[in-house]
Amino acid sequence: MGGHETLVVGLGERSYDIRIGEGLLGRAGEHIAPLLQSPRVLIVTDSSVRDLHLATLQRALKAADISHQSFAVPAGEGSKSFAAFAKLCEDLLSEGIDRRTMLIALGGGVVGDLCGFAAAVLLRGIDFIQIPTTLLSQVDSSVGGKTGINSAHGKNLIGAFHQPRLVLADTSVLATLPKRQLLAGYAEIAKCGLLGDAAFFNWLEGHAHLLLEGDPDALRKAIRRACEMKAEIVAADEREAGRRQLLNLGHTFGHALEAECGYSDDLLHGEAVAIGMVLAFELSAQLGYCRPEDADRVRRHLAAVDLPTGFERLCARAWDPNRLIEHMRRDKKARGGQLVFVLAQAIGKAFTSDRVPEDEVERLLAERIAEAYEETATLMP
Ligand code: NAD
Repeated sequence: MGGHETLVVGLGERSYDIRIGEGLLGRAGEHIAPLLQSPRVLIVTDSSVRDLHLATLQRALKAADISHQSFAVPAGEGSKSFAAFAKLCEDLLSEGIDRRTMLIALGGGVVGDLCGFAAAVLLRGIDFIQIPTTLLSQVDSSVGGKTGINSAHGKNLIGAFHQPRLVLADTSVLATLPKRQLLAGYAEIAKCGLLGDAAFFNWLEGHAHLLLEGDPDALRKAIRRACEMKAEIVAADEREAGRRQLLNLGHTFGHALEAECGYSDDLLHGEAVAIGMVLAFELSAQLGYCRPEDADRVRRHLAAVDLPTGFERLCARAWDPNRLIEHMRRDKKARGGQLVFVLAQAIGKAFTSDRVPEDEVERLLAERIAEAYEETATLMP
């Protein structure tokens, strides 16, 4: 089983491997077979990934004498709904699953969260394997065991912690991923450097272009470092009581922006996180925790790879700092209505704080929104 690197997420009996490399999908059967209690798997995917990559997985399973059936949900966040979840569970149950049945999530974060949640609750819990096919899911959502669906009251409000038995991250499937999705995943990679590894962020400043062009070595190295960091943090704090919260760098602002955009395609999650990370560093500088030069460096790097770093591309909307703060208060990560931010003392040195004065947040947002409107107005013919 050559050509890949392995990381272990250390969670005692529930420990599992993350294997990262080129062409893993085509060799999936040999990786999966040792984990099966019966030679049968049920694959959950979405309509786009089915058309692009399902056949490769099916061939690999066949080569390892593993029988399989596939279920495709419509591509997109809409499939993380109660209705889609109910249909998927009924479809899977109608195939006659038992406690030894293995599910495979083949797709991005939507499929991973949906299939993982089905695995968590079907027959009170069955095994599943993640084969993430977006950069975001390879570095973030497939690792750590958070699964779930959305509610009318907000995203990811219904879910469970349920760890996969294995994660297979094949860098070659990223070749079919639209550039905008690749960049959204890159934001989560940059986040890892920014929150806890300044040397990795330095490396990214020099190598991001290679990675985004699909260079397999650069991709493997970056995915590995991001997963390693997430795995370490999750092993130390599986249920997000402490350190795991650092992974939310950029997310307090980011979630508010996403909520205000109605979770539409106007702003992808990773794009919201990119803007959120810039704002988190700017807030840190404003409060005297880090140097303004650090915040500039974050903004420059994200802008250089063509991620959004402020409100400029979103000026068709009427932004209101107070409405954004309202969204933050409703976020499930707010503690009793108190806003929680991940701030930084420097690049690679993040910490959490629930003591940020709201008027400071409002001032920062008001300034950035005003600047963006000014800039857009001067660009108008
Ligand atoms: P996604 O699953 O919707 O994938 C994005 C799009 O890319 C979809 O249209 C999909 O069909 C397509 N796609 C997937 N792989 C492809 C490929 N190789 N080639 C071409 N197209 C491909 O979105 P995502 O960005 O992967 O994940 C976002 C979801 O992940 C959100 O629902 C978010 O809440 C969740 N998430 C979960 C966690 C967690 O810890 N569980 C962490 C972060 C995000």
